[in-house]
Amino acid sequence: MPRSMQLTRRLFSTILLGKMIGFGVAGTTLSVLRRSSSASETEAAKKDTSQSNTSRLETAPRKSGKSPDKVDYHQITEAEWKKRLTASQFQVTRKHGTEPAFSGKYHNNKNDGVYRCVCCKTELFDSQEKFDSGTGWPSFWKARKKEVIEESSDDLLGYRRTEVHCTRCNAHLGHVFQDAPKTPTGLRYCINSVCLVFVPRKEAEADAK
Ligand SMILES: [Zn+2]
Repeated sequence: MPRSMQLTRRLFSTILLGKMIGFGVAGTTLSVLRRSSSASETEAAKKDTSQSNTSRLETAPRKSGKSPDKVDYHQITEAEWKKRLTASQFQVTRKHGTEPAFSGKYHNNKNDGVYRCVCCKTELFDSQEKFDSGTGWPSFWKARKKEVIEESSDDLLGYRRTEVHCTRCNAHLGHVFQDAPKTPTGLRYCINSVCLVFVPRKEAEADAK
């Protein structure tokens, strides 16, 4: 084989090899890019979830009885509450509804802990002040702290009742009656389960630290 031809062949194979390596590298780069883009998509998805979790957390006080978040719950619109709550939570807390007796999950709950507002997570009641009224609604003889609950007059049923709502977010909770003579206060806070979130004592105490 003439020397020039040998050189041409060598050159050709070098180019071919280079191209192959090039493609290989390009291919690898592409798959790396693909991987990293799908990885970043996953990251983005994670971020999305964590962001929405964070925003949910930001709307909830993290410490018992304290309100570390700066949310003004009175400014939240009805449309926004509708998004945040289930249909029954919305109906009762924002529309003064009442859940059917014995239908809620807490009327018979005897576990030790605190009950937080389903809307703003303020601690409203304590299991130590809960009693069995036999009415089918969770009943308490006092609020956890006086200031967490406000009262107003309610004539919805044609006679006067005292409505109770969460001071912090204005969620309707139920009513208070003076018909529990066996309790230390004589009062019966008749509260809808759907307005409450029960938190076991240890968990609530851990949050408070
Ligand atoms: Zn509240």
